[in-house]
Amino acid sequence: MTEPDGGSDLQLETLAIGFGYDPSTAFGAAKPPVFLTSTFVYPSAEHAKAVHAAYFDGAPPPEGSNYIYARLGHPNLDMVERRLAALDRAEDAAVFSSGMAAMTAVTHYVLRPGDAVLHSRPIYGGVHTLLYDHLAEFGVRPFGVEDALSEAALSAAAKAAGRDGPIGLIMLETPANPTAAVADIALAAGLARTIAVGQGGRRPLVSVDNTFLGPFVQTPLAHGADLTITALTKYCAGHSDLLAGGVSGARALVEPLKKQRMVHGSHLDPFSSWLLLRSLETLPLRTEKAASNALDVARFLLDHPKVESVTYLGFHASGSPARAVLDRQARGSGSTFSFTLKGGEAEAFRFLNRLKLMRLAVSLGGSETLICHPASTTHYATPKALRQDVGILDGTIRVSVGLEHPKDLLADLAQALEAV
Ligand SMILES: *Cc1c(COP(=O)(O)O)cnc(C)c1O
Repeated sequence: MTEPDGGSDLQLETLAIGFGYDPSTAFGAAKPPVFLTSTFVYPSAEHAKAVHAAYFDGAPPPEGSNYIYARLGHPNLDMVERRLAALDRAEDAAVFSSGMAAMTAVTHYVLRPGDAVLHSRPIYGGVHTLLYDHLAEFGVRPFGVEDALSEAALSAAAKAAGRDGPIGLIMLETPANPTAAVADIALAAGLARTIAVGQGGRRPLVSVDNTFLGPFVQTPLAHGADLTITALTKYCAGHSDLLAGGVSGARALVEPLKKQRMVHGSHLDPFSSWLLLRSLETLPLRTEKAASNALDVARFLLDHPKVESVTYLGFHASGSPARAVLDRQARGSGSTFSFTLKGGEAEAFRFLNRLKLMRLAVSLGGSETLICHPASTTHYATPKALRQDVGILDGTIRVSVGLEHPKDLLADLAQALEAV
């Protein structure tokens, strides 16, 4: 269970358990030790030189250990990268100290001054800041597309973005947070090929932020994406106790990201890598249970007289463009969604303050149910007009449904809704 690409004929549930760790490398320990070391010792000066030649010049690695220094790579990082790559059906994966570190790595590797980046909208707040406040200072030109399901909307945005220079990257977040807007991955991949013709063969890469569904529900690479980016902090780590980010794709793209990570110093530390590897074992079970709880919660809210609307993926109507794309590219509806209470901020706050079991916090994907008011927290910095444009209203609540018994979750919602 250790070969980097050898697991592709196994089911994801099987790969999640043992792939990426070989007990013979650690005294036969059934479970991997945590290699808490910053540096690695060599048996000889010749071996040290050969290890560096392998790392820097791509020379064949010497027999035995070929680690150098933990910022360049360490055993726990290798294990979790192999496992994540297998789950994303990728050749390779690079794991970073947070989801934003992964986003920063991709944008810095792909984009150059003058390049445009086309992104679906809404996009995660941190990514918005990265593109519009930080990278814009370096001459990167971001362009947002509201309706990344529509060929006409994507093509029009590509035309505008390509007018003053090449498009380097198409960044999708699907489904989007917290609106459940869906982007069509295959459509974007096709558009990237079309754009390449007008850019002397330079094809924009297509990245997909897969945080909201994760590897057990959506495999963006299978639909034409070049890179899957995941805030592993959320469902993959799954216990709200660490931050991490991953990028999966072809080795030719992931290797340079790892080289760049060496100078940025944004690798994931040994202990977090170890925790994450352990968390991946239960990811399929957690994904399934949270999804079934979320369906119960979404149905309950949909029928409640104090609830105006529910934007749960599973409720995209059959026959709608979003439904058709979801049926093609996703295997489920996830377990984070939003709903809007009748009224506004006052009603939303009364409801949140009355909850006893659900915890009032940003973030998502933990074993516990987390709930928040996006307009005053996750989207605090988004101008009100823009928020309302994408459906984040004063009465909108986001919930990340956890693994508690659904009866208790519904009872908590019922008693808090009484207060509204
Ligand atoms: C949380 C999140 C990120 C950023 O991840 P961090 O680990 O917090 O840096 C990126 N995209 C989405 C969709 C997220 O939810």
